Amino acid sequence: MSDVFADLVGQDEAVVELRRAAAAAAAVLRAGAADRAPALITAGPASGAEFAGPDGGAEFAEVDPAAGMTHAWIFTGPPGSGRSVAARAFAAALQCVHGTGCGECPGCRTTMGGTHADVRLVVPEGLSIGVGEMRALVLRAASTPSGGRWQVVVIEDADRLTEAAGNALLKAIEEPPPRTVFLLCAPSTHPDDISVTIRSRCRVVPLRQPPADAVAEVLVRRDGIAPDVAQWAAAAAQGHVGRARRLARDPEARKRREAVLAVPRRLTGVGAAFDAASALIEAAEAEAEASVTEADTTERAALETALGAGGTGRGAAGAMRGAAGQLKELEKRQKSRATRAQRDALDRALVDLAGFYRDALTMALRAPVAPVHTDTAALAGAGAQKWDAEGSLRRLEAVLACRAAIEANVKPRIAVEAMMLALWKG
Ligand SMILES: [Zn+2]
Repeated sequence: MSDVFADLVGQDEAVVELRRAAAAAAAVLRAGAADRAPALITAGPASGAEFAGPDGGAEFAEVDPAAGMTHAWIFTGPPGSGRSVAARAFAAALQCVHGTGCGECPGCRTTMGGTHADVRLVVPEGLSIGVGEMRALVLRAASTPSGGRWQVVVIEDADRLTEAAGNALLKAIEEPPPRTVFLLCAPSTHPDDISVTIRSRCRVVPLRQPPADAVAEVLVRRDGIAPDVAQWAAAAAQGHVGRARRLARDPEARKRREAVLAVPRRLTGVGAAFDAASALIEAAEAEAEASVTEADTTERAALETALGAGGTGRGAAGAMRGAAGQLKELEKRQKSRATRAQRDALDRALVDLAGFYRDALTMALRAPVAPVHTDTAALAGAGAQKWDAEGSLRRLEAVLACRAAIEANVKPRIAVEAMMLALWKG
């Protein structure tokens, strides 16, 4: 059981659908090899994605049409549910020489390793994916697959497409080259995340938040983590597989989480609330800086080398004038990436904090559910006594409102200060 879908935790239905589609895609290629021009039709606004030959007819009638292959897919689900894992696994299955995603053949292995020539992965580093990047991508995706199978473009965080980039992508999805497949990942199909027109051209694969038991199981099996640690981390990460792994393995991540969960008992007054806000913001900044500094330095050095910094020969002056522009462009990109990293770090902290107040709420309601944070369950229980269900709910809502405000571009410090005051006052 080590095929490409093995790491897709707790998503049985999606895996069945993707396996079927991969088989249908392989059938298209076989029909092509048998001297027919294979084609997929695009998903229309009204229909699901049908699967048909060039005449739109029943050429591949032996394959269940509902199981068919199509040119554009959207993987949706909460963060950590495995959207990009699913997209990559599907890409591998499309490139698999057996058409199954066996996990062993060169097609599977190079795709999973990120080196397949016909699989392009877009991982936005900044807050958005721009139109320039998207146009270049669409252009390259239109070329004939060098491996003879499919050109696959995986776009992580497709909700970060700018409007212009979205339009460039839409054009490609509307008239896709015969062998090109787009796999988009987004939190949901809400119009805020993905435009209605793009959505209408794609088949949607919804992923759910994987249950803690399934997450723990994969941590034990794949990462060799001790079962009790895996159980704790899976619960604390609230179904986020990557976060669970980090908590299980990285002492720094555990320390940051503990600092966040200490917030509720530190809120003893207005001053303390502001202090807690500062501490949270600064911790997110420090975490983000640690994660991007190394990449920043490496990139700058690489660019300077490429531009021949320090050159004195003929043309060096002209080259340096162009270089200034490129360096500026790089700095802009790095700044955008740093902002994104800060927001991600802060969001992780807010999710932990929300888990604490959720625990207080479920305890106040005596709901028969396991706590998110087993290690602060006693503290949440004390909170439940003091605040009752209503007060716990108000606090939970204050944390969620803070996330929403930051998402809507309110300055993080202002949003977090407002939240801390609300948490203190109740
Ligand atoms: Zn394979």
